[in-house]
Amino acid sequence: MTKKIIIGNWKMNPVSRREAREIVSGIKKTVASLRKTTVVLCPPVIYLENLIGKKPGKTLFGAQDVYWEEKGAHTGNISPIMLKETGALYVILGHSERRASGEVGEIINRKIKAAMKAGLKVVLCVGEKDRDAHGHYLKVLEAQLKEALIKIPPRLVDQLIIAYEPVWAIGKDATGVETPEGFMHNAIFIRKVLSKIINKKQAMTVPILYGGSADAKNAESFLVAGGADGLLVGRASLSAKDFGEILKIAESLK
Ligand code: PEP
Repeated sequence: MTKKIIIGNWKMNPVSRREAREIVSGIKKTVASLRKTTVVLCPPVIYLENLIGKKPGKTLFGAQDVYWEEKGAHTGNISPIMLKETGALYVILGHSERRASGEVGEIINRKIKAAMKAGLKVVLCVGEKDRDAHGHYLKVLEAQLKEALIKIPPRLVDQLIIAYEPVWAIGKDATGVETPEGFMHNAIFIRKVLSKIINKKQAMTVPILYGGSADAKNAESFLVAGGADGLLVGRASLSAKDFGEILKIAESLK
C-alpha cells in the first residue's frame, strides 16, 4: 500500500501563535511514531516560519493559498518563492471557500502553474456545491479540473494532489454526509477526466484525497472502502488528539 497523505487545513485558526504551537507540538508527538503516513499541516501563513522552525522534521507544512506573480505591486499577496522561503512545501489551491469569494478557474490555473514552477506541491480542491441524482454535478467537477489544469507542464504533474471535497459535506454547516462509495465513484470519474488532460499513466499516479467532515470515526471507511489516497481535514485538524487519531488510523492500514 502506498503512503497515505493526511493534510490539515486550519483555515483562519487558531487566533494565537501560542495555541498554534501547542497544537503542532501535540501532533508531532503522534507523527514521531509514524513510518508510512505523510502528514502536512496548513496553518495561517503568518505562523508558518515559527512552526516550521530551523530544522524541517517529519511533519510537513503548507499554505492555504498563494499568488501567481513572483514579486511586485500586489498588495496583500504572497508569492510562491516567498512561501518556499518559510520552509513550506505544499499549498492548497481552489478551496471552495476561496471559490465562494470569487476565485475562478483561470486564477486557480495561474496559481497552480506558479506554485509548481517554484517547486511547491499543489493540493487542488474540487467539488460540487450540490449533488443531483442525474449526475449533472460531474460536469462541474470536469470543468473545475479542466480549467485549473490547462497547460500544466507534464514534468510538474508529480507535484499535483487532488482533494475531492463536496462542498455540501464541508464544515459545521454541512447539509449531508458523503459515503465511501460516493467518494470512490467520483474519484474514478476524476481520474478519467485527468487522463484526458494529462497523460493516462500520470493520471493513474495523482493522489486523490477525500475532504468534507473527515474525522476519526469515518477516516478508515474513506481510506479503505473508499480507496482514498488520503484526507484533507478541516475542523478535526485543530485538535492534536482528534488529528492524531486520524493519523494512527492511516498508519495502521495494511
Ligand atoms: C475543508 O474545508 O477543507 C474541510 C474538509 O473542512 P471540514 O473537515 O471541517 O469539513
